Amino acid sequence: MEALIPVINKLQDVFNTVGADIIQLPQIAVVGTQSSGKSSVLESLVGRDLLPRGTGIVTRRPLILQLVHVDPGDTRKHDEGGIDTEEWGKFLHTKNKIYTDFDEIRQEIENETERISGNNKGISDEPIHLKIFSPHVVNLTLVDLPGITKVPVGDQPKDIEIQIRDLILKHISNPNCIILAVTAANTDMATSEALKVAREVDPDGRRTLAVVTKLDLMDAGTDAMDVLMGRVIPVKLGIIGVVNRSQLDINNKKSVADAIRDEHAFLQKKYPSLANRNGTKYLARTLNRLLMHHIRDCLPELKTRINVLAAQYQSLLSSYGEPVEDQSATLLQLITKFATEYCNTIEGTAKYIETAELCGGARICYIFHETFGRTLESVDPLGGLSTIDILTAIRNATGPRPSLFVPEVSFELLVKKQVKRLEEPSLRCVELVHEEMQRIIQHCSNYSTQVANRPGVHSARLCSRAIINEQRRNRMREMPAAVPRDKAPPAGIQGEQDSTGSWRGMLKKGEEAPGSGPGSPLKGAVNLLDVPVPVARKLSSREQRDCEVIERLIKSYFLIVRKNIQDSVPKAVMHFLVNHVKDSLQSELVGQLYKSGLLNDLLTESEDMAQRRKEAADMLQALQRASQVIAEIRETHLW
Ligand code: GDP
Ligand code: MG
Repeated sequence: MEALIPVINKLQDVFNTVGADIIQLPQIAVVGTQSSGKSSVLESLVGRDLLPRGTGIVTRRPLILQLVHVDPGDTRKHDEGGIDTEEWGKFLHTKNKIYTDFDEIRQEIENETERISGNNKGISDEPIHLKIFSPHVVNLTLVDLPGITKVPVGDQPKDIEIQIRDLILKHISNPNCIILAVTAANTDMATSEALKVAREVDPDGRRTLAVVTKLDLMDAGTDAMDVLMGRVIPVKLGIIGVVNRSQLDINNKKSVADAIRDEHAFLQKKYPSLANRNGTKYLARTLNRLLMHHIRDCLPELKTRINVLAAQYQSLLSSYGEPVEDQSATLLQLITKFATEYCNTIEGTAKYIETAELCGGARICYIFHETFGRTLESVDPLGGLSTIDILTAIRNATGPRPSLFVPEVSFELLVKKQVKRLEEPSLRCVELVHEEMQRIIQHCSNYSTQVANRPGVHSARLCSRAIINEQRRNRMREMPAAVPRDKAPPAGIQGEQDSTGSWRGMLKKGEEAPGSGPGSPLKGAVNLLDVPVPVARKLSSREQRDCEVIERLIKSYFLIVRKNIQDSVPKAVMHFLVNHVKDSLQSELVGQLYKSGLLNDLLTESEDMAQRRKEAADMLQALQRASQVIAEIRETHLW
């Protein structure tokens, strides 16, 4: 099961390289009052002199100490720089530099502490990362923290107590952290600040282990039996007593091995019954066990978290798209996607059919048949024309002598006016189709860049949109000529006999014209025929007859023209606008955009985007590695 911890260390490395503080990995942190022996405890766990210790405030920056077990014959150390040594250390801030001299490591910790927190007892919450590779350690990650203090000294701010407390809490509130609450045996356990602060974040004592130091310094006649047995304050995970090196031992450079031997002898002598459940060695074993249980409990959640994050970064990365490598190919691809999507939306063969509302070709169809068709139908053939107007026109066209027949000119004049009223709805129809096309363009440009996965090529999108709009505007300008808006010269009169017949013939047709019969929807529209508008004077029967003739002619002619317009406007719009754009879209875009000079302008991606893509890719890679590592442990070591 010890194989579990290198994995965790590996994970931590992975995240360190990415510079992220994403996953809270299990680790062991020491807390306690200043000079209670925290650094000494850690040091004896490491088995080497490497931490600055001493009276007063010594530890002034958190130290994250990763212990890595290496086999004595491990070849890794040779890869690490060709140094043939059993134990070595490495700092994160000095990159690959290998420290074989532990005094040098201690010196580097002191230098690095001073670099950030000054040389006059100031503190900093920026951690120092140190890794120790050794065959004599068990795999552990330890955090040495500044001790709890009450009165500011040196450069320390007035609120030093609060600052240190916050710093400690920041590290130990991590639910994945095992807390080593260090209390000196020569102080009262009941007043232990370490246990107090540990309880704040771990009220159930599930991850707090009490360590009692300085067993050798107890007043004569007292012992720590009660404390170690948990009779003073019970601690769920246990209370372990240790004897570290005293200041004198440090000054005399007493070795760790000697210290551990002496500790063992001391415990055997003073606490024979408890000797095998106390001491530095037992502490190391207990910690290792605790840590492994803890990791095992955390693993499933950790895995889920990594997977969720990996998925998030994956989708982030794909939203950034691939970097543009071949610019001309990319542009061509974009143009084709765009043009195809446009055609598809018009034809109704698009991949994603809108269900909320009509769009594309279907909407154009709706505009033609519903909007345009109905508007035309609602136009009254004789609207705005009173009997008096007709009569006046007849009389004006007759001139000084009364004529035998109704003059044709009057009909022509009047019908032109009536037919003119169909122009406005026709133009409106073109307008509406144009608007819909604009909407389609908008939709397609979004979609095609999405599909081609090129969010960076926004400018190309804008350009293509501009070109299309321009193209459409030109077509719009041509449209009025195409829309048969001025049908005014009466075709029948001008001799289009085959389609409309003579105007007399038309009169007959008009009488039979659909919509003029009783009960037809147009009945209301033609009521002028049945209910003459009241006029100022009574019309003579001849006048009345002439008026009726003209009215019928107008109506019948109007209906024919309206039918024509109803048919030809949609055709013209389709031909000149919709289909034309559809057919020439791709070649037009290629013609205007596919120029080598333009490529860079259109497709160059911002550095920012490239940077973000790289970051996301790195992160994703780290997460995938982490996930792989976890999957391996879960399969092979635990279950
Ligand atoms: P920290 O401030 O909690 O990190 O405490 P240090 O580890 O720096 O130790 C403070 C002082 O107490 C040092 O001079 C140590 O030598 C001394 N000390 C720590 N533990 C023991 C112990 O178990 N016995 C004795 N005699 N001295 C100790
Ligand atoms: Mg210390």
